[in-house]
Order: sequence, then C-alpha cells, then structure tokens
Amino acid sequence: MNRKDYCPTKPFLIILSAPSGGGKSTILGEILKENGNIDYSISYTTRAPRGEEKDGVHYFFVTEEKFKEMIDAGDFLEYALVHGNYYGTSKSYIKSRIDAGRHVIMDIDVQGANQITNSDLDIVKIFILPPDKSVLEDRLRKRGTDSDEAIKKRLTNADVELGYIKDYEYVIINDELSQAVEDVKTIISAEELTRERYSEIDTKFYRG
Ligand code: 5GP
Repeated sequence: MNRKDYCPTKPFLIILSAPSGGGKSTILGEILKENGNIDYSISYTTRAPRGEEKDGVHYFFVTEEKFKEMIDAGDFLEYALVHGNYYGTSKSYIKSRIDAGRHVIMDIDVQGANQITNSDLDIVKIFILPPDKSVLEDRLRKRGTDSDEAIKKRLTNADVELGYIKDYEYVIINDELSQAVEDVKTIISAEELTRERYSEIDTKFYRG
C-alpha cells in the first residue's frame, strides 16, 4: 500500500503566477505530465485563441456577454481583467476536484490570486520569475503570437505584477526549465508533508 493511501493528506490549490513570457505554461505542462494526483483548472477567457490553442484544452473561449452572465450567476471563484481581456476560474470545477481529493493547479494572474487569498480555500502560491527583464521581451517576441501593441502592454503589466511578489510564499527563477519543474515538484511534496494536511493523523497515531 502507498503511504498516501495509508495516511492521506488533504488536497490544496497550487497557484502559479508569472509575468507573460515567464515560462509558466511550459512548467505547468511538465508538472501535469509527471504528477498524476493534480488536475489543471482550465480558465474561461474573452481573449481570442492564439496559435494552436484549443477551446476546452487551453481555455474555454467565451464572448464577453457570456462571461458577464457567468459573473452574474456567481460561477467564478475569481476573475480579473488582464491585458484588456477577462479571465476567470470556475468555482464548481475547483470544488469538485478538491472534493474528489485531488490537488488543483491554476495559472492565474496576481489579482486573481489575491482574491482567492481571502477565501477559506487551502492554497499554495508560487511566483515564477524570468532570469531578467530582457528575457521576458525575448520570449514574447519569439512566441510570435502577439502583436507589438500586445507585447508592450504585457511588458508594462509585468512591472505592476512584480509588485505582488510579497504576497507569494514561493519564488522560482526560471532560468533553466528542468530545475524550475523540479522546484515546483519539491514545493508540492513539502506542502503535502505538512502536519496539518494529514487528514487522519490524529486517529491513526495519537493515543488519548
Ligand atoms: P495569456 O493570455 O497569456 O494566456 O494569459 C494572460 C494572463 O492571464 C496570465 O497572467 C495568466 O496567468 C492570467 N490568467 C489565466 N487564466 C486566468 C484566470 O482564470 N484568472 C485570472 N485572474 N487570471 C488568469
């Protein structure tokens, strides 16, 4: 029997935030490939699909009208206007995964992370940094999917986003992808081992 079956630990939300071009989606892809006990929260957005992006895989692409209906219906755990488009996290999806005992990893911006901080959810917040600012611009340009204007907006926003680092428990500098992936895995493993997250430790080990 696996030690997690013997004494399970409670699931939590893992929030990854980074300025655009920080390399977060690549890290995320690697983590999801390797960790079978984590689900990815697919966000809703009013932004148009970019390059090879697919509806229901990278995002749920919706109109602004639909997004606003969802806000009114209370469907979002958090939502924010980022670089001129709306992005939001489905409340029911998060609840269903946590109820099923699974960690959920989410790629959301600093405003969204801030909103969830004030909820009663168990969250672990990780900020991913590029090695330096010029790398950000370089990555955005190489991606080749954003207009000049969009790139400028993302770089200006990066400065604002960096101001939120103090709200995060962990910071990873993504100068080498494999190391950054290892770092995220290490954080998840350490967080799983915190005493408060062992759901049955009292009944299994403590006497009296
Ligand atoms: P992109 O357009 O490059 O995919 O994402 C732009 C920004 O929106 C990124 O900073 C990303 O983390 C953020 N984002 C993606 N999904 C969500 C979401 O559901 N909520 C919030 N608040 N931000 C999101």
